[in-house]
Amino acid sequence: MNSLDKLNFDNTFSNLPGCFYTRLNATALSNPELVCFSESAAQLLDLKDSPKTREKLTQTCSGNKILTGSSPLAMVYSGHQFGAYNPQLGDGRGLLLGEVINHHKEKWDLHLKGSGQTPYSRFGDGRAVLRSCIREYLGSEALYHLGIPTTRALCVITSDTPVYREKTEKGSTLLRLAKSHIRFGHFEYFYYTKQHEALKILADYTIEQCFPDLMHEPDSYLLFFQKVVTRTAELIAQWQAVGFAHGVMNSDNMSIIGDTFDYGPFGFMDDFNWHYICNHSDSQGRYAFSQQPDIGYWNCGRLAQALIPLVDNIEDLQTIINEYPQIYIKAYERLMAQKLGLHTKEDNDTNLIKDLLQLMHNSHCDYTHFFRSLSHFKPEQDSSGQGFSEKNNPYLQTLADDCHLNPWLNNYSARLKRDAIDNHQRSIRMQQVNPKFILRNYLAQIAIDKAEEGDYSEIEKLMKVLQSPFSEHRDSEELAKVPPEWGKKLEISCSS
Ligand code: AMP
Ligand code: MG
Repeated sequence: MNSLDKLNFDNTFSNLPGCFYTRLNATALSNPELVCFSESAAQLLDLKDSPKTREKLTQTCSGNKILTGSSPLAMVYSGHQFGAYNPQLGDGRGLLLGEVINHHKEKWDLHLKGSGQTPYSRFGDGRAVLRSCIREYLGSEALYHLGIPTTRALCVITSDTPVYREKTEKGSTLLRLAKSHIRFGHFEYFYYTKQHEALKILADYTIEQCFPDLMHEPDSYLLFFQKVVTRTAELIAQWQAVGFAHGVMNSDNMSIIGDTFDYGPFGFMDDFNWHYICNHSDSQGRYAFSQQPDIGYWNCGRLAQALIPLVDNIEDLQTIINEYPQIYIKAYERLMAQKLGLHTKEDNDTNLIKDLLQLMHNSHCDYTHFFRSLSHFKPEQDSSGQGFSEKNNPYLQTLADDCHLNPWLNNYSARLKRDAIDNHQRSIRMQQVNPKFILRNYLAQIAIDKAEEGDYSEIEKLMKVLQSPFSEHRDSEELAKVPPEWGKKLEISCSS
């Protein structure tokens, strides 16, 4: 275990040519305070948790101290935002502090979000507010513990520095960890500025750092693209299966290694709704829940475009991208079959899933609650042709009555009987993939409201259940509850 001054930095990105970044330090925040610290994320850096570490981290993440061995820089990128190309983006309010190698020889980028203005800030103040940092902290740690690829979050710092949004808020930062901060938008930047030599350097660098197995392959750029397409399709299948909406799937928010990246107005669905729009600023619903798989495909198309100068034959890129829908569907159906506890595969399973989701959509059934309760369903005892015994599962019975799911449950029951797996075993497997605890918007909001008053205890309480979302937590049952009326109406916008 290391102290913060002994981290093993190997800053490879800062060795790339100057056109990839601007070197600069964070702008200091006044009177900083540590809001939360993830011990689980600290382990990725072999970082010892101690009062000294926390104090140094507070000073570093507020821009009051520079970490020994770090080499802070703002990366350059561009990207398609809501379908339109924006030629100049970049880290407008974040800095890559450096890359740390841990004792497993894994490399982790340290990225400070909310660190002040950079040459890419455009009209922004370079800052982030407490609520958005807490949302990213909780959201990324929640997805990680659900088994979904994502960036991680080490800590959140707040301060007395005022930041002006719809109201005056507290300038805050989040220290994000990721295996890479390279986005689709990095490739787009060098393609659209016609810097094809730099584009090649970027592709070679990305392959070396993130896909080293491909380094000596003759078709390395195509194989690299194929990996990105596969990871993107599989990532989005995981979002869909857990009911997660990203909110701003612009190509500058798409990670080249297929991580969930750049948490803004994301949302975990409460009531199932195909057209769930978590981002209040997305009036057209471009990034609605149901659109995410197609948008992933579209974004891969933007990346393919940027890779054209590197390949001999454009059609090869097209062939790869054409595989996306099949990769997505295969991954999604596999995940949904697991959620339903199906052991074997039958042709009609696709319809079983579709029918269920349509019924849940029509009846506004709580997505997470339903699947968790379904893990207690016992076909032999429960199915009688007219529903199933209340005694076995009163909660599911109420849901089924309210949501008109009884006919579907009868089909499901018949389907389960054809699977040679006992109820107990299936129930255990289903509970390993159907979380009891998700980061519902209203829970995040309660934690944020308290934190704005200086009480960070709710963040800790939430983190505890989100770190093992598939387990029972008898002392925190209330964190599994569906939202109260006010909690269903929360509006999360791009403002952060
Ligand atoms: P996002 O919507 O968070 O993905 O941000 C899109 C782009 O705007 C990125 O290049 C950010 O760095 C930049 N940006 C967002 N908020 C700010 C801000 N307050 N100040 C400067 N740049 C910002
Ligand atoms: Mg972004």
